[in-house]
Amino acid sequence: MGIATINPATGELLKTFEPHNDQQIAAKLDLAQQAFEHYRTTSFQHRSGWMQKAAETLEQQKADFAKIMTLEMGKTYKSAIAEVEKCAWVCRYYAEHAAQFLGDVYVETDASKSFIKYQPLGAILAIMPWNFPFWQVFRFAAPALMAGNVGLLKHASNVPQCALAIEEIIQGAGFPKGVFQTLLIGADKIADLITDERIKAATLTGSEPAGASLAAAAGKQIKKTVLELGGSDPFIVLESADLEAAVATATTARMLNNGQSCIAAKRFIVHEAIADQFEKLLLEKYQALKIGDPMQPDTDIGPLATPSILHDLDQQVQTCIQSGAKILIGGEALADRPGNFYPPTIVTELSPDSAIAKEEFFGPVALLFRIPNLDEAIKLANATPFGLGASAWTTNSQEQQRLIDEIEAGAVFINGMVKSDPRISFGGIKRSGYGRELGIHGIHEFVNIKTVWVK
Ligand code: NAP
Repeated sequence: MGIATINPATGELLKTFEPHNDQQIAAKLDLAQQAFEHYRTTSFQHRSGWMQKAAETLEQQKADFAKIMTLEMGKTYKSAIAEVEKCAWVCRYYAEHAAQFLGDVYVETDASKSFIKYQPLGAILAIMPWNFPFWQVFRFAAPALMAGNVGLLKHASNVPQCALAIEEIIQGAGFPKGVFQTLLIGADKIADLITDERIKAATLTGSEPAGASLAAAAGKQIKKTVLELGGSDPFIVLESADLEAAVATATTARMLNNGQSCIAAKRFIVHEAIADQFEKLLLEKYQALKIGDPMQPDTDIGPLATPSILHDLDQQVQTCIQSGAKILIGGEALADRPGNFYPPTIVTELSPDSAIAKEEFFGPVALLFRIPNLDEAIKLANATPFGLGASAWTTNSQEQQRLIDEIEAGAVFINGMVKSDPRISFGGIKRSGYGRELGIHGIHEFVNIKTVWVK
């Protein structure tokens, strides 16, 4: 299927979109380049006004935008509303802080005056996934545009209406024409696009193969990339933890976005002294979750975004079973209805050394492991090619310090759920990617950090 809206809750094809042809793409690249020449000279005050207006539009029309998201990728409507609100937040955050983050930084040297100046790079290509179809785009666009860059969005092929709505929001906010454009194109166009001299850098949020392919093509052109890729985040629960709170958060953290979040807790690593109790409480929570129409306010779990995600997840669970694991709940796609529904599933007794235990499960499947002590918890947490986020639960301050120091991840949250926040940096290490979004570090990714030295 090309670029299309297919309702994941019913499987119904609702709308198809003609991809942009080579002439249309070339015209958009020209426009981006022309727009940049003027836009780079605009003041922070102007950019900030436009960004605030985008935030207002998001807030005023959040119901409409949330509906498009739910329709195209199946997240619950209530979570889609929260996503639009968070987009307004990131717009406001950078509208208010960009001038400060990008102000000249004076450094004393042997010069009479020396300082660091931040300048925009030009057109940045953003390749984005469907799972947070608004948030992923705004968390790129708000800092990039406030820094004076212009953006070109290649969104995932299953969320074209989201992509077009975002273009409209940004254009409608008053940003000069061409500052932010959507390209309706397939992934096969990316390798060529990145060689185009009108594109100066790229960011990709998505899978490891997509990230590797972009980075290889960009590397040949010596173009900067930021990669936000997959994760198999550990959720560690030690003896002193507040078990009720840990279980409640474990449920939310795994089920977020119907289980399709890069920073969802995916591997639950629990001290053996409390593991029986944790398992029992988690099972109760999972049993209480309501699966169904994502538009309904009482639905907890909607469909997975595409049939292929459903198929892949099902295969992964079957592989767990074949390698000796037990299923406490769930374990099979729901065949009694149309759409891509997979139930909340708990897998236990899976060997941590098996190849499948190291994979990312992109759906509502929790893998439970038992460990005898903190050393083993840290070892198992790090036994993955990924390094995005980690959540660890203990009230012992020495244990907290070791977890903070020794977990290999872009983020460690103690007694809380891993989440993104406009105010603090977000990103991974190892095969979860490189570079950072959000916070002060996010706005410094796509700028020329220019050293100025005056005798
Ligand atoms: P995906 O297949 O990699 O798609 C993501 C985007 O990349 C889409 O726009 C896709 O376009 C494009 N793409 C696919 N193959 C490409 C290639 N070879 N070259 C260039 N672009 C390519 O990812 P997904 O499976 O939809 O999304 C889930 C993955 O994203 C998971 O691994 C998840 O953990 C990760 N993710 C990471 C973060 C983070 O912040 N670290 C956040 C969200 C998701 P088409 O749709 O046209 O194929």
